[in-house]
Amino acid sequence: MKYLDEFQDPELARRLLDEIHATVTRPWALMEVCGGQTHSIIRHGIDQLLPDQLELIHGPGCPVCVTPLEVIDKALEIASRPGVVFCSFGDMLRVPGTGRDLFRVRSEGGDVRVVYSPLDALRIAQQNPEKEVVFFGIGFETTAPPNAMTVYQARRLGIRNFSLLVSHVRVPPAIEAIMQSPSCRVQAFLAAGHVCSVMGVEEYPELAERYRVPIVVTGFEPLDILEGVRRTVRQLERGEHTVENAYPRAVRPEGNPAARAMLADVFEVTDRAWRGIGVIPGSGWRLSARYREFDAEHRFSVTGINTVEPADCRSGEVLQGLLKPNECEAFGTTCTPRNPLGATMVSSEGACAAYYLYRRLDVAPARLEASPVA
Ligand code: SF4
Repeated sequence: MKYLDEFQDPELARRLLDEIHATVTRPWALMEVCGGQTHSIIRHGIDQLLPDQLELIHGPGCPVCVTPLEVIDKALEIASRPGVVFCSFGDMLRVPGTGRDLFRVRSEGGDVRVVYSPLDALRIAQQNPEKEVVFFGIGFETTAPPNAMTVYQARRLGIRNFSLLVSHVRVPPAIEAIMQSPSCRVQAFLAAGHVCSVMGVEEYPELAERYRVPIVVTGFEPLDILEGVRRTVRQLERGEHTVENAYPRAVRPEGNPAARAMLADVFEVTDRAWRGIGVIPGSGWRLSARYREFDAEHRFSVTGINTVEPADCRSGEVLQGLLKPNECEAFGTTCTPRNPLGATMVSSEGACAAYYLYRRLDVAPARLEASPVA
């Protein structure tokens, strides 16, 4: 197959579904790690077509959603300072911090700019040598390489008025944390294909063996998801727990060596807090000592942050797969994309946003009738 729409072919989807139905003999719970996969599943109604015994648990793989409130509050504080140009991808601007968001900072006079690449921020720094330009570097193994490369370029070009506010996270330690949770119900993982296109698959066999879980690297189109599910349930029914690559058109076993080399040069592994989950050992990156001068947290002394999570938001449970978004009392009533209480309702990869976009009329019509239109 050459074109993306071929990965949405209804006839091939039906055949995969038939095979999945013929394979499943008992209840299983699979977690799709990535929020992009969650959106594809909910958008195409894939979960509703699977056998009743098969549950898809939505995982924590949404970069905006897992960025800790403390980091967002630091971003708000830095962006409010005179002489600072604060650059970010657009979806971070609506994420609520304690009492405000980046849009609010901009409306109060802060120089907050939406960019489409970290290199845009570097260009702004070159063009405005009298300003301090900060880029909000969040996300998984997918967004970390371009951010690393931008810091590398800043150092190479001697651009000293550029810095990165870093909140990068890594998927394999999160899988380990999920498996170690006493409330874990996950029996297999659909691993995030785009993460593996960067990092390869070599981190996964040890996890599959230690926790005896199948891990199938899976893409994002409907046929990709169904093929990932098909391979996963085949392993579960056979009592196997190996790593399979169901996304070979994008993922090579070794990943992307150039991107990995850039990550290894610019970043070092560190413990990192995940919003709603807590600190996961070794689950993040920070700038290594060679690049520490480009770390916004070192450049700007930010103290006295008192974070307050919204009391009604249960996004921590959503991110751990313990709660479906529509089971949250605030879903679609006091929490909508226009007035979000939590980041999972803001992000284009957030599970609450997926349910609101594609399921809100199915799941809670009585509650939603009384709510404002988002
Ligand atoms: S629906 Fe809103 S309040 Fe509820 S968990 Fe999701 S983001 Fe939080």
